[in-house]
Amino acid sequence: MPGKQSEDGVMEGAAVEDGGDEGLGGLTVEELEQGQETALALEDMMALSAQTLVRTEVGQLYQEVRPLGQGRFGRVLLVTHRQKGTPLALKQLPKTSTSLRSFLYEFCVGLSLGTHPAIVAAYGIGIESANSYSFLTEPVLHGDLITFIQPKVGLPQPAVQRCAAQLASALEHIHSHGLVYRDLKPENVLVCDPDCHRVKLTDFGHTRPRGTLLRLTGPPIPYTAPELCAPPPFPEGLPIQPALDAWALGVLVFCLLTGYFPWDQPLVEADPFFEDFLIWQASGQPQDRPQPWYGLSPAADTLLWGLLDPHPRKRNPVSSIKGYLGQPWKQREGEAEELAKDLGEDGLGDHGAAKGEQPACR
Ligand code: ADP
Ligand code: MG
Repeated sequence: MPGKQSEDGVMEGAAVEDGGDEGLGGLTVEELEQGQETALALEDMMALSAQTLVRTEVGQLYQEVRPLGQGRFGRVLLVTHRQKGTPLALKQLPKTSTSLRSFLYEFCVGLSLGTHPAIVAAYGIGIESANSYSFLTEPVLHGDLITFIQPKVGLPQPAVQRCAAQLASALEHIHSHGLVYRDLKPENVLVCDPDCHRVKLTDFGHTRPRGTLLRLTGPPIPYTAPELCAPPPFPEGLPIQPALDAWALGVLVFCLLTGYFPWDQPLVEADPFFEDFLIWQASGQPQDRPQPWYGLSPAADTLLWGLLDPHPRKRNPVSSIKGYLGQPWKQREGEAEELAKDLGEDGLGDHGAAKGEQPACR
């Protein structure tokens, strides 16, 4: 997709071409080939799906029950099949903001992932109506993870570990298909039960084959990895890697544990919270621990340092989560306050007044 401007403030270029080791932008030949095979397979699937789209108005086949959610690009409705009564989630993308190609991409990525317990099941039915494109997935009826995160508190530790384990497994599955998910955030994690025992990843609108060249054109968000904020190795952008998802998983786990974002943007010049984190990572000294990190255990520190390594090649993969499950990730009640007292902090940290308040999730 040369030079395509995607909807999320990211410019998308063609996949990197094999120009010898120097020309691969940090990818190995195997990684490059895997991404290229995935891209070709998706193109085939999109061509076939374009021919089999059902051309009708949604209401002819399905009865609307209630809205399930609204994202930046689409609205999702709970519907039932008019004859069979089967409940389904219908994601509807208006033609004014979504091209046929973008629709087919998202639809086919969902289908190509097959079944995984932590990925929302796709039903392979794509619909073209006069003003919109739609596809059907399994409905997940307890909302998304954002409604479960208590701002400035997070989630109970067992729920954090369950979510982290399931999301890491879903992302590993996506990576094993030669894809990078690129949009991990609580709004894209659906919750299957009131106690948050099971979660499912949804929304493959930003997922792309490994090695696709991307360039950030808008402001980064906390989940954006720092390598996307730096000047890209090619004019068309950075060849994307699963390490982008490992970074976002680290940020999400921090949010779930604390109810805060670790920073607004991973930019040293613009964000003192990020700068403090890098200083602490470089020194490893307890007195450099930034205030937002007080409530975390040594196991959580090691896990998150690995996922949040600013160098993508040194960053731990999403599967590293497995090594930390069952260990404490939060300090016990009172320990964080003790630490704050020992370090002479007043709750805002060294540069609290200058930094402003730590950004809370939501
Ligand atoms: P967008 O691409 O616009 O971000 P999403 O696919 O993320 O759209 O869907 C928007 C919202 O709809 C989600 O944040 C979630 O709250 C809800 N949602 C999406 N898919 C489902 C589903 N299968 N079951 C229940 N709710 C869903
Ligand atoms: Mg979404």
